[in-house]
Amino acid sequence: MPPQPRDITGWAPGDPNEPIISLTVRCNQRCVFCSRGAEVVQYSPARIRAVIAEHKDSVCFEGGEPTLAPDVFKWIRHAKKSGVRDIVLVTNGHGLEDPALARRYLAAGVTLFNVNMPAHTEQAYDAVTQTRGNFPRRVAAVKNLIAAAGPKKVRLTFVVNTLMLKSMPAYAAFILREFPGLFYVEINALKLLGNSAARRWLVPPLSAAAPYLQKTFKLLSGGGLNFLTDGFPLCYMKGYEQHSIDAQAMARGETKFSMGEKGNCPPCARCTLAPLCSGPRKDYTALFGWKELRPSKLDPAAVLAKFERPRGKARRAAGKVG
Ligand code: SF4
Repeated sequence: MPPQPRDITGWAPGDPNEPIISLTVRCNQRCVFCSRGAEVVQYSPARIRAVIAEHKDSVCFEGGEPTLAPDVFKWIRHAKKSGVRDIVLVTNGHGLEDPALARRYLAAGVTLFNVNMPAHTEQAYDAVTQTRGNFPRRVAAVKNLIAAAGPKKVRLTFVVNTLMLKSMPAYAAFILREFPGLFYVEINALKLLGNSAARRWLVPPLSAAAPYLQKTFKLLSGGGLNFLTDGFPLCYMKGYEQHSIDAQAMARGETKFSMGEKGNCPPCARCTLAPLCSGPRKDYTALFGWKELRPSKLDPAAVLAKFERPRGKARRAAGKVG
């Protein structure tokens, strides 16, 4: 059989795919923490079709800013027609303050809007996104999406960085006040990839982040808003371990492709929570080492009991340690 042609993304028919579709490299913001960069490519139609054919549970339309792609509706409709259950639009909210546009995305098939909301004031939003004057429109977009889509259809993403670290509790108060009906917020550790790779100063040490993370978790929990975290090891999730997206997957006995970006370190060998913890991000330990990790002595079964649907595999794993 002749070799299959590779497309501009380096992908060839038959290559494995993540459930992610990059529709464009263009973006109208320049978020300082953006992990996209030169390695981001616009997927070819053949690759988009392959991702959709391969992932009937869920696909994410991303970019750049996918709403800038001229064929965004065509591909969302194609995913819906192909029977994909969850169709996620990962967006900065561009244009979505328009109720008609929000309804158009819903009619095409979007089941979840994942909105990058990086700040809670105009000044901070401008600084973090390196744009001017977008904040009121983005706030209006989130409110509009919640109104148009209804419950469990809008989530926010917040990337922890040194510019916003001390404002995180105020950010939590802001989203609790402004966005009733929000499904959840995901709080992510910064990835030193793409555009942010050279901005090491944006990554707070875990010990510096810890008090602000804890205050934020407490506020969100107290306000009744669900949250998930990605990239924070369980030793920095004390009391809130069940909100770690990787720990949830491990509790279900699953692995996620993003776990490859993290890894356990020498102190983890002494930690009772290692079977539920994917460890810190590898780019974090390359920067700061692993001396801040705090091996836990908690009973892993007690931690596991806090998860909604703990399953046998992780229970067995948790039982092996400690
Ligand atoms: S010491 Fe290691 S295994 Fe234990 S919680 Fe921290 S990162 Fe996870």
